[in-house]
Amino acid sequence: MDAFVYSAHPARVIFGSGTLSQLPAEVERLGLTRVLVLSTPQQEADANATARAISARAAGVFAGATMHTPVGVTADAMAMVADRRIDGIVAVGGGSTTGLAKAIALRTDLPQIVAPTTYAGSEMTPILGETKEGVKTTQKSPKVLPEVVIYDVDLTLSLPPALSATSGMNAIAHAVEALYAQDRNPIFTMMAAEGIRALASALPAIVATPGDRAARSDALYGAWLCGMCLGAVGMALHHKLCHTLGGSFDLPHAETHTAVLPHATAYNAAAAPDAMRAIAGALETADAAQGLYDLAGRLGAKLALRDLGMPQDGIDKAADIAMRNPYWNPRPLERTAIRDLIARAYAGNAPQQEPA
Ligand code: NAD
Repeated sequence: MDAFVYSAHPARVIFGSGTLSQLPAEVERLGLTRVLVLSTPQQEADANATARAISARAAGVFAGATMHTPVGVTADAMAMVADRRIDGIVAVGGGSTTGLAKAIALRTDLPQIVAPTTYAGSEMTPILGETKEGVKTTQKSPKVLPEVVIYDVDLTLSLPPALSATSGMNAIAHAVEALYAQDRNPIFTMMAAEGIRALASALPAIVATPGDRAARSDALYGAWLCGMCLGAVGMALHHKLCHTLGGSFDLPHAETHTAVLPHATAYNAAAAPDAMRAIAGALETADAAQGLYDLAGRLGAKLALRDLGMPQDGIDKAADIAMRNPYWNPRPLERTAIRDLIARAYAGNAPQQEPA
């Protein structure tokens, strides 16, 4: 076996059905007495119910979380943190709500308890993306890692099938890139393959029957594993491209990941044969990139970036931006091939294997 470095992030994870009922005990365990509960406006009712569950230890609800963590929203939440002398954060929601919790933790070092309701995986990473004047910047800090994560399968039952599909593909993308990461190691390689396997088998069942608790449980388990991969090893072309596309054309996060993933995988296929074997094995398919494309299609996801609102003249613009800040990728970045990749994702065509 090759030498490797393995770093784990400390977190207490509680997994199961009905596990949010353990929140009051967790709040008490951390010694919190004035907790702020966060959510998006759409999940305000869940946040209010959560605050009621921790009764006297809840000091307020802030239901203003929104995609890409705009600093203005964080400033509003910070005012509430100061006003109410908040000593801990509870986040109930997807990556947007977790992002707000992390932004508050970055500024205050307050402890966080996160109850994820999507498969985005942000709760497992020391990464925070924030948006200021339309520009999103990403940073890494151990300060933003939640102290406790409560995975309650019941919270995911209401995630609409379409969002479940793309959120699950977003999670799979973390594992795909972990498998060919420059700093990969056998532990996260194992988690990545298992994460893809769990999600790929669960997502079709969820789309068919959104209330399928067993499938929901497998998907949330897979999302946890994929989130750990995202937090532990470096991401490459796929994540950088999605970041560029999302930021430049205001495209939806999980949907963009879903449309781009088969093409980014095909771009790297010849340069990362071991990863491709692991992905194909986890998908139970012959070819990794085609398998991802077929899975997204089977889930009824949009496969074309143009259907997500990307303009056609964005293809060249995105290719230019992608080349601007070079980063490590299994296959070196080549503008013509990257432009072709984006063009195929724009049209929703099948992925095309590129020579190494
Ligand atoms: P989201 O949190 O924006 O949620 C999308 C919508 O679905 C929201 O309206 C939300 O209220 C709703 N929703 C969420 N869970 C629901 C449920 N169970 N039932 C009904 N409605 C529900 O979406 P997301 O994809 O989870 O997060 C995207 C954001 O997270 C992006 O800003 C992305 O950059 C960030 N992210 C960050 C990291 C990281 O490590 N920092 C990782 C992944 C994603």
